[in-house]
Amino acid sequence: AKAAGGDRYEIYDPNRHDAQALRSTLSSGLRSALQSGDFALRYQPIVRLADGVPIGAEVLLRWTHPEHGPIAPEIFIDLAEELGLIGQLGRWVLTRGCREAAGWYRELGDRAPFISVNLSARQLHDVGLADELLRTLDEVGLPAHQLQLELTESALLGPAQGPADALEALAEHGVRVAVDDFGTGYSNLAYLRRLPVRELKIAGSFIEGLAPGHPSTPADRQIVASVIALAHGLNLTVTAEGVETEEQAHLLRTMGCDHAQGWWFARPGDPEVINRMAGGRGGD
Ligand code: C2E
Ligand code: CA
Ligand code: CA
Repeated sequence: AKAAGGDRYEIYDPNRHDAQALRSTLSSGLRSALQSGDFALRYQPIVRLADGVPIGAEVLLRWTHPEHGPIAPEIFIDLAEELGLIGQLGRWVLTRGCREAAGWYRELGDRAPFISVNLSARQLHDVGLADELLRTLDEVGLPAHQLQLELTESALLGPAQGPADALEALAEHGVRVAVDDFGTGYSNLAYLRRLPVRELKIAGSFIEGLAPGHPSTPADRQIVASVIALAHGLNLTVTAEGVETEEQAHLLRTMGCDHAQGWWFARPGDPEVINRMAGGRGGD
C-alpha cells in the first residue's frame, strides 16, 4: 500500500533482483528522467511548536521510474552523485523550489513559509554555487531570507575553503544554513564555530525514543535536551524531524524545541497544501 503522502517506496530486495542489473537500469533511467519529467517535488511543512503555525517547508525530491515505480531518494541521489548528475538534478530542485516559494511570497508576503532545500556535499563543492543561487533568487523574485539550505555534518566537515566561502557569501545575503540530521554524523563540532549555521535539525531517529515506554527513552531525551541546549547556547534554532505523535510534539514543546516537522503535522505533499496552510492562518 502506498502512503497518503506518497513517501513510501518499493524497496528492492537484492536477493530477488540482480542488484547490478538493477543499478544499470536505474542509471540509464536517471539519465533520461531529467528530460522526460519523471521527477517531482513534495513539500513538508515545518511548524513553530509554540503555536503550530507553518513557518517553512522542506523540499523533498521524488522519482517515479516508468517501470519500477517510486524509487527511494537515498538510492537515486547516491546514484546521481556517482554518475555526476547531481549538479544538474540539484539545480533543477533549487530552481523549481525557489520558484514555488516565490509564488508563496508574492501571495503571502512576510507570512509566507521559507523553503528548505537539501544540498548534497558535491553541490556544496561546486565552485559556481553561490553566484548561481543568488542569480536564481533574483530571477524568480525570492528574497534570500526565504531560502534555507540543509547540509549534513559530513558535507560541512571538510577542510576545503571553497564551500566555507560559498556559505559565507550566501549567508551574507540572508540565506539560512541548517545542519541536517544533527548528531548522526561525526562528533566534531568545530564547524559550528567556523560556518554561518543558523539552525540544527535533530534526526527523527532521536525523536522516536522520546515518549515513555520506548527502550531508548532516557538516552534519547538526554540527547535531544542537549542538542536544544547547545543550539540555544549558540543562538541557533532547533527543528525536530520525524515527529509522528502528539506526545512527541508535546514533549518537544515543553523541552523548548523551536520547530518541528513530521507526519503528526503533515506528510510531504503538494505545494498547494503549504500555500493553503500558511494562507489560512491570517484569521485566527
Ligand atoms: P532528510 O533530509 O532527513 O528528509 C526527511 C525524510 O524523513 C524524508 O524522507 C521525509 O519524507 C521523511 N519524513 C518526514 N516526516 C516523517 C515522519 O514523521 N516519520 C518518518 N519515519 N519519516 C518522515 P524522504 O523524502 O524519503 O527523503 C530521504 C532523504 O533523501 C532525505 O532525508 C534527504 O537526505 C534526501 N533527499 C530528498 N530530497 C533531496 C534533494 O532534493 N536533494 C538532496 N541532496 N537530497 C534529498
Ligand atoms: Ca533534510
Ligand atoms: Ca533530516
